[in-house]
Amino acid sequence: MENINVPVERFRNIGIMAHIDAGKTTVSERILFYSGRIHRMGEVHDGDTIMDHDPRERARGITINSAATTVYWKLTDGSGSMHRINLIDTPGHIDFTVEVERSLRVLDGAVCVLDGSQGVEPQTEQVWRQADRYNVARVIFINKMDKTGANFQMSLDSIKSRLGVAAVPIQLPLGEEENFQGIIDLIKMKIVTFDASNQGKTFTINDVPANFLPQALAARTRMIEVLAEVDDSIASKFINDELHLVTVEEIQTALRKGTVARVLFPVLCGTALRNKGVQMLLDAVLNYLPSPVDLPPVSGVHPRTNDSLSRQLVDSEPLSALAFKIVSDRNGNMTFIRVYSGVLHSGSYVYNVTRGKSERISRLILVHADEHEKIESAGAGTIVAAIGLKGSYTGDTLCDENKPILLEKMDFPEPVVELSVEPKTNEDLDKLANALGKLLLEDPSLKVETDEDTQQTVLRGMGELHLEIVVDKLRNDHGVGVNTGKPRVSFRETITKTGFADHKHWAHNGGKGVYGHAVLNVKPGLRGSGFVFNNEVVGGHIPKEFIPSVEKGVKNALQNGVISHNPMVDVEVTLTDGSTHTVDGCAFGFELAGSKALQEAVKLASPVILEPIMAVQVTSPSEFMGAVVGTISARSGQIQLTSDRGNAKVIDAFMPLRKLFGFTMELRGGTQGRAVPSVRFSHYDVCPLKPSDLEE
Ligand code: GDP
Ligand code: MG
Repeated sequence: MENINVPVERFRNIGIMAHIDAGKTTVSERILFYSGRIHRMGEVHDGDTIMDHDPRERARGITINSAATTVYWKLTDGSGSMHRINLIDTPGHIDFTVEVERSLRVLDGAVCVLDGSQGVEPQTEQVWRQADRYNVARVIFINKMDKTGANFQMSLDSIKSRLGVAAVPIQLPLGEEENFQGIIDLIKMKIVTFDASNQGKTFTINDVPANFLPQALAARTRMIEVLAEVDDSIASKFINDELHLVTVEEIQTALRKGTVARVLFPVLCGTALRNKGVQMLLDAVLNYLPSPVDLPPVSGVHPRTNDSLSRQLVDSEPLSALAFKIVSDRNGNMTFIRVYSGVLHSGSYVYNVTRGKSERISRLILVHADEHEKIESAGAGTIVAAIGLKGSYTGDTLCDENKPILLEKMDFPEPVVELSVEPKTNEDLDKLANALGKLLLEDPSLKVETDEDTQQTVLRGMGELHLEIVVDKLRNDHGVGVNTGKPRVSFRETITKTGFADHKHWAHNGGKGVYGHAVLNVKPGLRGSGFVFNNEVVGGHIPKEFIPSVEKGVKNALQNGVISHNPMVDVEVTLTDGSTHTVDGCAFGFELAGSKALQEAVKLASPVILEPIMAVQVTSPSEFMGAVVGTISARSGQIQLTSDRGNAKVIDAFMPLRKLFGFTMELRGGTQGRAVPSVRFSHYDVCPLKPSDLEE
């Protein structure tokens, strides 16, 4: 398809978020189909959808990589002009929350898809909160209205009770479950039914039939009542009982205003699988979700002065852009970029301010699922992929070197599960480092460490599934033969008191000796602070050039905790003094002194083992409360809160990750499959186990 020139106010950068199985992939697929991007519909159960184009995703029926896709759409009533929708499919699985977070960071709006027979599910709630954090405007699509058990009112109630937001139905379903025929449009007061003969491509608009009229009028009144709060002219008509005088334009304007401001959330319904309602959802994306020009300026800091800066989201401002995803394959890296302000040009240099160097973009492309469209430039508001960037990583800011700005960095959660990998042959050993380098570039939630004692390579990640997929990529995409250990919990160590050490290292056997001397103290850092190093050496007792050597030694020693060999975190180290030797003082000597001093100081600082604690939320019918609480307690869980949600119970607990293996299965088994857990990393806390008990 040729490049359609669309001005930025007609861009919509959106994501689709949902609990797993609510229908994200099916909805995305229908969007591609109705917008003419694909000519044959794929079905998830056939394993041939376009959006989930990674074979691993098809096999698992879930979406792992956020594939960015551009489609064009014009309102179905023929009014208005062509819009460009950049669609990012976000994954629903807990192990990929990083993917969700980084998509949300670059999106302006989202469609939240619910399963109409389930209402708001745990993962929906979790992504909803994430979207709140990133100020993403949303419309809600209640999908699967055709399914047995589908219930529009129940779904609506669950939005209010679980998400606690002003959900405004702008449609009602025309029938439910097997009687679901189409949409009642509460704005125009019409019904829409879809033609089965061409997979719902065409549809018919009619008046609301008499038997649906009372409920439609009541729902319309409620909608206008909510809109009265954001729009004065609607308010005065509402107060004066002149509902019939409220125009379609007035309603749409008020809805747009409220949605962009995130004070209200329009609710639509349909069935993606049975091809009903998706075009109206696209209309709503155009009508109510913000374009980049509706958003506040992007903010950042000057890389040298740290002064606050902001950029309007327009082409005429200096360039500011964020690399938010890297996909690397045989042909090199494809770097997905959100351009906030200014223009990126194909064949030009951009300045990576995070790394302090310029890089050349050899090509710019718009990605349409599996196809690529070459473009010459990408202006403000665009989501685009660049080819040719070699040293830019996820989260890096790209900008104009003469007008530098550093956008806020992306945070990635702690990896909590680890897996050892061992190359099978010498050839695999060479390939492994190379392949891991590429995977690290793609995936900022992956960490790789070498175990000092065993020389093993240890992968750390967000969960078992995450690491399973990394290993799968090593084997199948990069052709590396590896053996793996069992997935294990990532333990850490930290200190609970202050400690002090004075270590002098001086070795001489003939010739020139090795000398280093470090005096330092350690104190507990805030949880999550990692490692902080302060230098308070005065009077040149340690020559300046050897200070980094001491720091390096300290860092190395931190990798190998004194109790259990797990890395030490949240330690603040202050180098206070030392000495040197004119002949024997050397970098290696100071490195050794730093390592030894750190180990000695830490031993005096009451070290402890830390373990990941997960925030677990279980939703269960009340009759299974006892079973759920029993299962949680038996696995060392600490219940924080129990609350009601409709007629279900919600239990919030903290549980050690080491006690979670097999938890979901056990929970399902004890509750006839009715209790549903959601699990996410919360924090590291002191582990009561002895070091010898860490290996299960
Ligand atoms: P995702 O996990 O959110 O991407 O959900 P999928 O799109 O993979 O859909 C999960 C399952 O629900 C698949 O078996 C779909 O065929 C089915 N599904 C999706 N949309 C509908 C719908 O509107 N009605 C019904 N009955 N099933 C649907
Ligand atoms: Mg999917």
